[in-house]
Amino acid sequence: MSLPLYLIGARGCGKTTVGQALANALGYAFSDTDRYLQQTTQRTVADIVSAEGWEGFRQRETLSLKAVTAPATVIATGGGMVLAAENGKFMREQGRVIYLKADANVLAARLEAYPEQDQRPTLTGRPIADEMVEVLAARDALYQQTAHYVINAMQCPDKVVEDIITMLSLARA
Ligand code: ADP
Ligand code: MG
Repeated sequence: MSLPLYLIGARGCGKTTVGQALANALGYAFSDTDRYLQQTTQRTVADIVSAEGWEGFRQRETLSLKAVTAPATVIATGGGMVLAAENGKFMREQGRVIYLKADANVLAARLEAYPEQDQRPTLTGRPIADEMVEVLAARDALYQQTAHYVINAMQCPDKVVEDIITMLSLARA
C-alpha cells in the first residue's frame, strides 16, 4: 500500500516536523500544502490573506491539496484544510488521514517558543493561547471526523512517527 498519507491538525501539532520524519522513515516523498502555496505564488500565507482574504486563501489551499497529492507521499496540510468539506472528502477518498492531536496549551507553548517558524497571521488578533483554545474547540470534532486515525502528538516526534507506523501496519494486517 502506498496511498498518500495526509497529516491534519492545528498549527503547531507537528504536521511539518513529524511529516518530514515519517516520510524519511517510510521512504516516501514529503509535501507541505502551505509551503507549496508559498513556492508557487512566491507569497507568504500572510500576504495571500491580506491580498485575497481568508476565502481566497482557502480556494488556493484546495488547489494545493490536489496538486501535491501523489502515491507514496506524506502530505502536511494547513491547519484549516478540513474547514472545507470538499477537502476532507478528497483526502479520505485518496488516502489515509491522520490527526495529530494535542492540547491547546501544548500547541500555544510550541508556537510561542518558535514564533518565526509560523508565518500565518493569528485568526483573531488575540493572544495565541486564548486563540488556540477557541480554534481547537471549534475544530477538534472536525479533525476527528475527517481522520481515519487519531495520534497523540504530545510525545516526542520520533514516538509520534513510531505510533503512526504501528497504526498503519495494524490497519493493513
Ligand atoms: P505544524 O506544521 O503542524 O504547524 P510544526 O511541525 O511546524 O507544526 O511544529 C511547530 C513547532 O513545534 C516547531 O517548532 C516544532 O519543532 C515543534 N514541534 C513539533 N512537533 C513536536 C513534538 N512532537 N514535540 C515537541 N515539539 C514539537
Ligand atoms: Mg506546518
